Amino acid sequence: MLWSLIKIVAFVLAVTALTYGGTQLMEVDGGATVDVAGQEFTLSTLEMVFALGALVVAVWLGLKLLALCVATFKFLNGDETAISRYFDRNRERKGYEALSEGMMALASGEGHLAMTKAARADKYLQQPQLTNLLTAQAAEMTGDRKTAEETYKKLLSDDKTRFVGVRGIMKQKLSDGDTDTAMALAQKAFALKPKHEETQDVLLRLQAEKSDWAGARKTLGAKLKSGSLPRDVHKRRDAVLALSEARDILDEGKTIEAREAAIEANRLSPDLIPAAIMAARGYIGEGNARYATRVLTKVWNAQPHPDIAAAFAEIAPDESSDERLKRFTKLTKTTADHPETKMLMAELHIAAEDFPAAKRALGELVEKDPTARNLTIMAAIERGEGADDSVVRGWLTKALTAPRGPQWICGNCQHIHPTWAATCDNCGSFDTLAWKTPPASDVAMPAGTEMLPLIVGQTKEAQLPSTEVVEEAIVVQGEEAK
Ligand SMILES: [Zn+2]
Repeated sequence: MLWSLIKIVAFVLAVTALTYGGTQLMEVDGGATVDVAGQEFTLSTLEMVFALGALVVAVWLGLKLLALCVATFKFLNGDETAISRYFDRNRERKGYEALSEGMMALASGEGHLAMTKAARADKYLQQPQLTNLLTAQAAEMTGDRKTAEETYKKLLSDDKTRFVGVRGIMKQKLSDGDTDTAMALAQKAFALKPKHEETQDVLLRLQAEKSDWAGARKTLGAKLKSGSLPRDVHKRRDAVLALSEARDILDEGKTIEAREAAIEANRLSPDLIPAAIMAARGYIGEGNARYATRVLTKVWNAQPHPDIAAAFAEIAPDESSDERLKRFTKLTKTTADHPETKMLMAELHIAAEDFPAAKRALGELVEKDPTARNLTIMAAIERGEGADDSVVRGWLTKALTAPRGPQWICGNCQHIHPTWAATCDNCGSFDTLAWKTPPASDVAMPAGTEMLPLIVGQTKEAQLPSTEVVEEAIVVQGEEAK
């Protein structure tokens, strides 16, 4: 508002000044006489001012025309000047327009349009690092793998775009299932950009799949350094890798190195069951029963597991059953209510032939949380106590259809593994196996429970038809058919 007012005032003042100046000039006497081609012109002062203005404009126009003539002359001689620059700017503008249109097409999922625009941008711009990116992505979108691969290869030649090229080809190889080439490319991409999270993950997965544990540990270290992995997760995964490394070394027959690697894995993650067991076996091999006991007690308190008990038994293989009971009571004293402890103690009492104690140790487990294992233990107790065959068979029948209890299950795909492994056999995920009870639906057998008691009842009462009866029935059937 104020600005408009100032402009109006300035305009009025300028007009007033010009009018005043003009009047003053007209009132001035004299002027000049100009002699052109023998003719004399007498100019007033005002006319002179106008003539001067016209002259200035004429000279400016003349100079411009001269510059254009020079530019045209040089252009015709093949020189880089204003005219060609003018056309270049025009081409550049068209190129960038095509590029931005291509990117829009890409974003809206129009792959073919993006390809066309990319080709147009390439023609005008001469900036392959920009247009190749667009071409590669558009080719991926339209499923034109050949063009995409060719374009990625072009990107490899420039330092700035090399990573994009390597990553593009790596992804293609991954989807082809060519993991060897993909791994080599992932290593190259990792060398170019060690902090790139996706590259780290791909490399780590491939290294774990190919059992390159030492390489995987390095990649994991890089992940920790670049801050893309929490410290505790790193520690746990590093332990899993160290354990896998230890297992491979053991397979090669290098017992001492394997022992050290297992102890290292156990140090990194004391509650990783297979690492603790391997480390404990290492200590047992060295004759260090105290360390073995300590390692196994620690892991048992974190997660009771039958394999831990088996390794714990190996510490003193020749002890009497009473000595064994005493030693295991120490192991299990803080986990007395855990089902694994109850089953373990029941088994040890069975071994010591103290069946009432075994029954007491098992408690109400068979009613509250029946599993194939505790029902089988119950059958053994009943047999030991001299119960009737039908009672024993009854427990075993129940055991057949009971849930199997906790197992090594992949947290990603729920696949059940007979033994622990660093990577899932089914989906290939790393460190996803946990010791837990599978969902009930995985083990339920419809109609199974109803059928089995019938079969058991029949065998018990020996009511199967004799061979003569069966033969007679076949003869009767044959006669009827005639
Ligand atoms: Zn899995």
